[in-house]
Amino acid sequence: MMFNFDNSYIRLPAAFYEPVRPAAPEQPVFVGVNRDLAETLRLDPDQLESQAGLDILSGRQIPEGAEPLAMAYCGHQFGNLVPQLGDGRALLLGEVIDRDGIRRDIQLKGSGRTPFSRGGDGLSALGPVVREFLVSEAMAALGVPTTRALAAVSTGEMVFREIPQPGGVFTRVAKSHIRVSFSQWFAIREDHLHLKQLADYVIDRLYPDVANEKEPYLALLGSVIKRQANLIAQWMSFGFIHGVMNTDNMNVSGETIDYGPCAFMDTYHPHKKFSSIDHGGRYAYGNQASMAHWNLARFAETLLPLIDLKQETAIEKATPVLGEFSTLYTEALARRFNTKIGLDSFSQDDWQIAQSLLNLMADHKADFTLTFRYLTKSAETGNTAPFMSLFGHAPQVMSWFEEWQSRLTQENKQTSLDRMRGSNPVVIPRNHRVEEAIQAAYRHDFQPFHTLREALRLPFEDRPQYEAFETPPKPEEVVQATFCGT
Ligand code: AMP
Ligand code: MG
Repeated sequence: MMFNFDNSYIRLPAAFYEPVRPAAPEQPVFVGVNRDLAETLRLDPDQLESQAGLDILSGRQIPEGAEPLAMAYCGHQFGNLVPQLGDGRALLLGEVIDRDGIRRDIQLKGSGRTPFSRGGDGLSALGPVVREFLVSEAMAALGVPTTRALAAVSTGEMVFREIPQPGGVFTRVAKSHIRVSFSQWFAIREDHLHLKQLADYVIDRLYPDVANEKEPYLALLGSVIKRQANLIAQWMSFGFIHGVMNTDNMNVSGETIDYGPCAFMDTYHPHKKFSSIDHGGRYAYGNQASMAHWNLARFAETLLPLIDLKQETAIEKATPVLGEFSTLYTEALARRFNTKIGLDSFSQDDWQIAQSLLNLMADHKADFTLTFRYLTKSAETGNTAPFMSLFGHAPQVMSWFEEWQSRLTQENKQTSLDRMRGSNPVVIPRNHRVEEAIQAAYRHDFQPFHTLREALRLPFEDRPQYEAFETPPKPEEVVQATFCGT
């Protein structure tokens, strides 16, 4: 048996999902298999990479023990409630217990129609599959909580978007695929019994500590908020823009989920956005925390009936917990950015220093990743020229640098250098490189995918052979917009 499935979600009432079967492409091929992750999941990587593995990960074969289902959920998309979403192009194969004893979902994405597909074909183009693999694995290597990529398959069949494109199937692994909008499915139907069952399942699976609290549902809200505050602060510290932070794209587990029109920015600007469908910039870089807070308010609303039968009392209890998001986030953000400039604190004075640098970066259109990288180099070698050149050697940057240096004298030099090295990546999945890998994959050339993946595996290490992946795009290579490709 290839997978040791141990399925729990399917034991929940029928209202939570629809049983489905994957579509079977005729002649799929692997783009890539994540052998390390396979081992973590107690799978045999060789078996996974075999024809039998390909049959399963392309949807041709349902493995023993799998009980494929599409999850039911709804959500707010761009601020508007959509009462029925659900897995329209994904199915949960089953769950396995990994090497660390953690229960993990194994999901196929792009595996054909489900009862939630509405007008869609349930398929995915290969481009978004390649993007999700590369970016989610890069996030994992950066230490950001995220869903993982087990495999990417090219189906050999065309999917029809604006133009016909090669199709793909992505195998996603997550601590669970339950989104913060899941509870809304039952909340809007005033189905409090199922709502409670769902919340209990989430607590049991993802937040066992809160089960012993006097008010477990309130504690659940607090714990989800805490994980999200930390998550968004991490995104911000790497210049990551999710792009489509609808409530159904926010995982209750605190893992980054749904890599659609996401991007790491090159030149820094707080208003930066890439998604072609985000016309108003709702999910722009600098809005991510307030959008997360907004989503969590929707989550809190759905939990109210469980927090207290009297709505007024429930609101009274939930409001201060929801209010903690801002403090938690501000602290986490300050800590992240202070670390990036070598300081171990969430002190507001230090955060002021980091913020002044961000302001200068915006003024000078400095590259986000290179700025912190060259700052780290200046601390390593004493050579400040590369850093200064990002700002055209402007006098304001010189004085910022002096202020920073004088603050650094209070720190142990080696320790602060280690902090900088550990928080300022050398290589990130730059848009033009991801695009290059996608375009090559469309030509059945998967080598750029593998090379980029290898470059992203150790993002904090200086490896000369991957130097080409450090540099920002040339003007003609700049990617202006990203698409979810659905
Ligand atoms: P997303 O914006 O990718 O989070 O997707 C939003 C909703 O649209 C989810 O319910 C998806 O399952 C559904 N969806 C996206 N693409 C497709 C597709 N090609 N076919 C069917 N459903 C889709
Ligand atoms: Mg989604």
